[in-house]
Amino acid sequence: MTITANYLGMPLDISGLDTENLEYFRHCAAHAFHLQACSACNLIRYPPTTACPWCASPDARWVPVDGRGTVHSYTEVHHAIQPAFKNHTPYLILMVDLDTQKGVPSPEEAIRVVGNLATPDGVLAPPDMVRKVGIGTRVRMVFSDVAPGLALPQWTLDEAAPPGTPWRYPQE
Ligand SMILES: [Zn+2]
Repeated sequence: MTITANYLGMPLDISGLDTENLEYFRHCAAHAFHLQACSACNLIRYPPTTACPWCASPDARWVPVDGRGTVHSYTEVHHAIQPAFKNHTPYLILMVDLDTQKGVPSPEEAIRVVGNLATPDGVLAPPDMVRKVGIGTRVRMVFSDVAPGLALPQWTLDEAAPPGTPWRYPQE
């Protein structure tokens, strides 16, 4: 089943042949974060792929993963490359170190999941929220509903985490 949708003016298509991404986004549509765990070496991987990047086994099972982590790096976008994103600038693209499998199989290869900073209901974050977030911020996963059968995983502030002092790029 091919998924065709539109998110903020951008076409999003998942081919019916892309079984790994169809399964991944099927879970996301239910607001659940699942990743593939290798049946041979048990490592969880991201993004969805046909074989394990560490041991090459094609066999995997889908497992629920806690959608929490720490901002590893970020980009603050001031010039939207899509017209529909213009009203949301500045917005953040976050690269988040998952708590799950942190530092495994090596600190460089641990799982990092990319998403935008969003409000708890999955809308791109307003400027006052953007300014609070930097490297080290604790975040939790939320979902932006796009179409039946498709939601995008995003990140929002983890309200349960103690407030830290995230590092942000020097502002102009
Ligand atoms: Zn493996």
